[in-house]
Amino acid sequence: MSGKVSDSASWGNAPQAAAGSDQPFIPLAIPTITDLEVARVTDAVKSGFVSSVGPFVEEFERTFAELVGAKHAVACASGTAAIHLAFAALDIPRGAEIAVPDFTFVGSSNPIAYVGATPLLVDSERETWCLDQELLVEALEERVRKGEPLPAAIEPVHILGQPARIDRLVEFCVSHGIPVVEDAAESLGATWSDGAFAGRHTGSVGTIGAFSFNGNKLATTGGGGMLVTDDAELAARAKHLSTQAKVPDIGYLHDEVGYNYRLTNIAAALGLAQLERLDEVKARRAHVAQRYDAAFAGTGIVTPPRVPGFDATYWLYSVLVPDAGYRDELWKHLGDHRIGSRPLWRPLHLQPPWQSAARIGGTVAEDIFARGLSLPCSFDLTDAEQDRVVEAVLTFLENR
Ligand SMILES: *Cc1c(COP(=O)(O)O)cnc(C)c1O
Repeated sequence: MSGKVSDSASWGNAPQAAAGSDQPFIPLAIPTITDLEVARVTDAVKSGFVSSVGPFVEEFERTFAELVGAKHAVACASGTAAIHLAFAALDIPRGAEIAVPDFTFVGSSNPIAYVGATPLLVDSERETWCLDQELLVEALEERVRKGEPLPAAIEPVHILGQPARIDRLVEFCVSHGIPVVEDAAESLGATWSDGAFAGRHTGSVGTIGAFSFNGNKLATTGGGGMLVTDDAELAARAKHLSTQAKVPDIGYLHDEVGYNYRLTNIAAALGLAQLERLDEVKARRAHVAQRYDAAFAGTGIVTPPRVPGFDATYWLYSVLVPDAGYRDELWKHLGDHRIGSRPLWRPLHLQPPWQSAARIGGTVAEDIFARGLSLPCSFDLTDAEQDRVVEAVLTFLENR
């Protein structure tokens, strides 16, 4: 049993199929649901603990914290909620500035607005497609020299399962007392095997890390997220805020404005089953990535970052086409061949809410957006289906 749970966003935009195309549709990325997930969720439903109180929530938090090497984990209703709770728990003041990559999904930046802060958009580096720490640290060091204020927090994002290069940045933040909130929504299971963070998981090296279990992420709870930290006080504060700031054991006392951001027991049960299968899912993604890498070698297609010492998981397998001029045409071509694909994110500075945000750097983010396309990489994608994708991409390029 597989692929039964999906949300439409996971399928990739499938333009109208070409006339006569009778091939089965290959989705972009759909979850893998087996009997294990069904059994766990059934247990949760039968237990009667369907809401956010229940044994699976705590077991999910414990298991997750251990998996990523953090002391505390707080299960949340979404990854966006986890990031919002991180800023709220850190008491980021209204009007503050938070540095975030220009090239990311809006789930990274919306919580900045929720707490009344403004983003400082930082361009990406070519090698990892993640925030360019050299650009940011240089700009911040310049501010230090001029006596100008520093951001209230830094939010690096591990894009598409690729660990960001943040060793220098974290060092700068530690020495200036700036909290680092890692957006690890896309990088569950990704680690560093060399350098300052060797042996660590993405999401575990900052002050707080946030993960997502949305339907299309590497592990899903249907919808959900996790906040991790080694700081017991921050974890307790985040958990408190996630449960309407209700003070336990006193009749309905809410000591501040909180949120209804807890994960449900049913969702946690699904998450536990997914975590049990994470190694299997990671291995499958690596297999798919390796086959795409080999097929696209020497074709002019830029394959996803591979950085020694940075052990990416392939949340999505995304490529840069040689020429931005026909990215949308290729997207449509794949749709005509009943293959789901999707462009990468439009940089934040091109989104209406952040058009006037301060920005550091050049046009790498714009280039990744203009040329980027994610290709099918579901757990159940067969080699034969993948060959169909490769052939459709290569024939398109040959006929240009
Ligand atoms: C998915 C995602 C989020 C938000 O997670 P949700 O669970 O969908 O709220 C945040 N940041 C990034 C980079 C993401 O990819």
